[in-house]
Amino acid sequence: MLKVGLTGGIGSGKSTVSKMLREKGIPIIDADIIARQVLNKYPSIIKEIEEEFGKEFINSDRSLRRREFGNYIFSSEARRKKYEDMIIPYIKEEIFSSFHEYEIKGEKVCVLDAPTLIEQNIHKDMDFVVLVWADKSTQIKRVKGRDRFSEDEVIKRINSQMSLDEKRKVADFVVDNTCTLKETEEQVHRLISLINGL
Ligand code: ADP
Repeated sequence: MLKVGLTGGIGSGKSTVSKMLREKGIPIIDADIIARQVLNKYPSIIKEIEEEFGKEFINSDRSLRRREFGNYIFSSEARRKKYEDMIIPYIKEEIFSSFHEYEIKGEKVCVLDAPTLIEQNIHKDMDFVVLVWADKSTQIKRVKGRDRFSEDEVIKRINSQMSLDEKRKVADFVVDNTCTLKETEEQVHRLISLINGL
């Protein structure tokens, strides 16, 4: 089975491309969903967050106050790193067990949709890497339209990620999503033909 990593930067259109691939019948593993699931699956992570970062980030039902915790960790490289070191091993384990399940089902291609695919070095475990690219001002405009974040909150998140131009260097295929959805869809069709032929 061909393992395809799909990544981007916040607001570059990764979820949009992922949806297009899913609509074409390609199985998708969503790392963000896995990241949320591990918090439910392993209550010890919530406890660890409480101990390391403070009880103000935990609701009374023991769920995580995502927006507040996100702002807190994204405002400091050290905090973000600390949280990632805590959570990434759980996420990686779940991702690779999902790949394994799809392989057993007999799938020929499976896509891992992961915003920090390259930062976490997971791209090295993939057979093919796809980057969804947009210029920074398009990213800012689209995230503001989608999430109602302030410009400052968006820029903080963009700057906390590796730049899309850096990511481009390790990509096997770049989807340029600065234009219309129709043009993006055409690139996605080319991508599917390419990976089906590998
Ligand atoms: P990401 O998953 O990379 O953060 P999304 O796919 O959610 O980004 O896209 C960010 C926002 O921009 C969404 O509201 C989406 O509907 C919109 N969007 C994505 N691609 C385009 C496009 N080519 N033209 C116009 N809007 C777009």
